[in-house]
Amino acid sequence: MKIAVAKETRDGESRVAMVPELVGRLTGLGYDVAVEPGAGSHALIADEEYAAAGAVLDDAAFAAADLVVSVQPLAPAQIRGLARGTTTISFLPVNQEPETVGHLRDAGVTAHAVELIPRISRAQSMDALSSQALVAGYRCAIVAAGMLRRFFPLNMTAAGTVQAAEVVVLGAGVAGLQAIATAKRLGAVVRAYDVRAAAAEEIRSMGAKAIDLELETLEGAGGYAREMTEDRAARQRELLTPYIAAADALITTAAVPGRAAPMLVTRQMVEQMKPGSVVVDLAAETGGNVEGSAPGEDVLIPLEHGGTITLVGMKDAASTMPADASRLYAKNVVNLLLLMTADGKVVPDFDDEVVAGSCLTHDGVVRHQPTATLLADAFGEPTAEGSGA
Ligand code: NAD
Repeated sequence: MKIAVAKETRDGESRVAMVPELVGRLTGLGYDVAVEPGAGSHALIADEEYAAAGAVLDDAAFAAADLVVSVQPLAPAQIRGLARGTTTISFLPVNQEPETVGHLRDAGVTAHAVELIPRISRAQSMDALSSQALVAGYRCAIVAAGMLRRFFPLNMTAAGTVQAAEVVVLGAGVAGLQAIATAKRLGAVVRAYDVRAAAAEEIRSMGAKAIDLELETLEGAGGYAREMTEDRAARQRELLTPYIAAADALITTAAVPGRAAPMLVTRQMVEQMKPGSVVVDLAAETGGNVEGSAPGEDVLIPLEHGGTITLVGMKDAASTMPADASRLYAKNVVNLLLLMTADGKVVPDFDDEVVAGSCLTHDGVVRHQPTATLLADAFGEPTAEGSGA
């Protein structure tokens, strides 16, 4: 069985789907690993390291590959070059890229999207959303600390006392909790808010203070957040305003699966902050939690009485720490791959909820039913029968 490792081609993508320390695990099982030259260069992994681990460097790595691993979805030309029956593993945000799903289906590729891996205990070691959110959340806190022109920790010195910075984190999922933990380790006083019922306890377990707005909690399917009504959103904004006004740094990480990021903070709320404060919006790429944030841009918001607030729109956050992010992602990929292979062959067991749940297309059919419906709505195609949930 031949496993091909793609060199990522999309702008801003610095990660790679395989790292040398995991190549031996695969070759030890008798699998061949072919890596496109330069695949690890942005993640500071040299071709020689892959070769030393037992992989072959090959410009034509995809040719005759049984399984192709990548971070981003493959490009249409790459998909067309795959033999029917090839398996792929990558991120694939179906709402943003329905055309790619169509290409994979038409090419007869068995495509697994890591976003669709069920978030059950057994699949935690394959949960790429979590591993990459961890990196992104850490990065947000580091960016906030780096941009803020004052200390995060309390300093008591002979020359006087410097107070700790106040940090507010909105959204306490995997990324938010990591941002909280990182800001705490740097010594800031951290307060956080999330709409889920379990979040307050999780926030406190990180050593931060949970903001209690005395609003109803909002929980939907699978323990995820639900969308807010406009009334609820307005009330939440009103009640959060004093907390945000008192913060030196605000980090926002809120998301609702399958929807644009909720708008939590208006420009007017940002303008209540002190001059020199920093806002970091992790959701900038998916619609933004903060009004006016733009992915990859630092927007300066002038204040009426002088000074500015810096609004950082995060972009490709996990990719900004490509070596560690790749190591974690590659481990997720290998764990999924091992679940689907045996005796030198790809043998997906569609009775396994992780294999079935993550499978987007197989044998010319879109198996994941919500995506089949999405394609039907987008392109007027007939929906195909599939077993995906
Ligand atoms: P996510 O990226 O979908 O959302 C980030 C956070 O934003 C969530 O905590 C959500 O509640 C919050 N949010 C949404 N709307 C908000 C609003 N209006 N105001 C404030 N916060 C808002 O979430 P995630 O990090 O992927 O995690 C979601 C859930 O899944 C959590 O309960 C997490 O513990 C759980 N989880 C479980 C597993 C597992 O069991 N294997 C793994 C990872 C995550």
